[in-house]
Amino acid sequence: VNRTLSRYGTTVFTVMSALAVRHGAVNLGQGFPDEEGPEAIRRLAADAVYEGPNQYPPMRGLAELREAVATHNRRFYGLDINPETEVLVTSGATEALACGMLGLIEPGDEVVLFEPLYDSYLPMIERGGGIARIVRLEPPDWRLPEAALAAVFSRRTKLLVLNSPLNPAGKVFGHEELASIARLLLAYDAFALCDEVYEHLVFDGASHVPLLSLPGMRERCVRIGSAGKTFSATGWKVGYASGPAPLIDALARAHQFLTFTTPPNLQRAVAAGLCQNDGYFGGLAAQQQAKRDRLAAGLAAAGFGVLPSTGTYFLVADYRRLGFDETDAAFCQRLIEEAGVAAIPLSAFYREAPPVGFVRFCFCKRDAVLDEAVARLHRRF
Ligand code: PMP
Ligand code: GLN
Repeated sequence: VNRTLSRYGTTVFTVMSALAVRHGAVNLGQGFPDEEGPEAIRRLAADAVYEGPNQYPPMRGLAELREAVATHNRRFYGLDINPETEVLVTSGATEALACGMLGLIEPGDEVVLFEPLYDSYLPMIERGGGIARIVRLEPPDWRLPEAALAAVFSRRTKLLVLNSPLNPAGKVFGHEELASIARLLLAYDAFALCDEVYEHLVFDGASHVPLLSLPGMRERCVRIGSAGKTFSATGWKVGYASGPAPLIDALARAHQFLTFTTPPNLQRAVAAGLCQNDGYFGGLAAQQQAKRDRLAAGLAAAGFGVLPSTGTYFLVADYRRLGFDETDAAFCQRLIEEAGVAAIPLSAFYREAPPVGFVRFCFCKRDAVLDEAVARLHRRF
């Protein structure tokens, strides 16, 4: 056989987690919590496996989960979403994103993206026939470059992909920035696919504002949430998209041929999860904020330059302060081999010419694990 089988590489998260295991490293690379999410929600999932439902649920999701997603939209953002026509349940946010990219893009359409960008976006956009137009955000504050953004918009622009809070930067887009994006979407009659999986992981009193909630955006945006992030169960892979009926229809047409449905027992548990009291959501953010502070202080004491993070599970650190000027991939290799700590090179979030000197650390780990990582860094650097 002499045929090309896949143009895709291996995702950095798999590569770094495998290296971490091989070297017995503390894994602050791939983003996943090392504690289980709420017990009551896990019990509901277990009960639903035992008692059912276990057959194909409706293609767009169990009614109770679609209702819960609509209620959650109203409760946190004052949005009026129709659970019958304006919600789609998917197998993780990743699938909702793929549905958006396959369902909303026609070959030759241009798609505006911000760099750093999550690694599943470009492969899916390109499979959908889209042409990526990338706008770079620069450390340390990752501010929206308004002129550069306006310059990539044209009549060919069909879609913008916005991840806020932004993995790996920890940036939460502000109201002014969102308003600039909204003006361009209106001026060029374009849509937005909003990856809001970290919507409840926002710190320091900052608030997450869905682009969909801005004037004129209700009929142009789909916003995507993830039970994996909101209930600390990244393996569950339950995502939910909310938006205007024509856009949700377009995503659903792709969804019917990708996975068609999502495990009904998990959907039932996620529906209950979304209806938990405010204490749950506030508690999650407070707990992760404390972990961020713990790791940030430890990294700073070990000599890293720590960039601010107001959202997500991640913070970005500058290793040039330690006296290294090698590539971030080489530094991550050194971190694993010499210090026994795994991180993610920031270049994994860039198509080309990444900024030099930055790695991403994940802080959603038990305090003892964060402390052990910091102790190892102190020993080596
Ligand atoms: N988008 C971003 C920005 C992410 O960091 C992740 C990480 N899991 C996802 C999407 C995927 O979410 P899910 O696990 O629900 O597919
Ligand atoms: N979203 C997670 C991260 O950024 C990884 C998800 C995955 O492994 N695909 O670390």
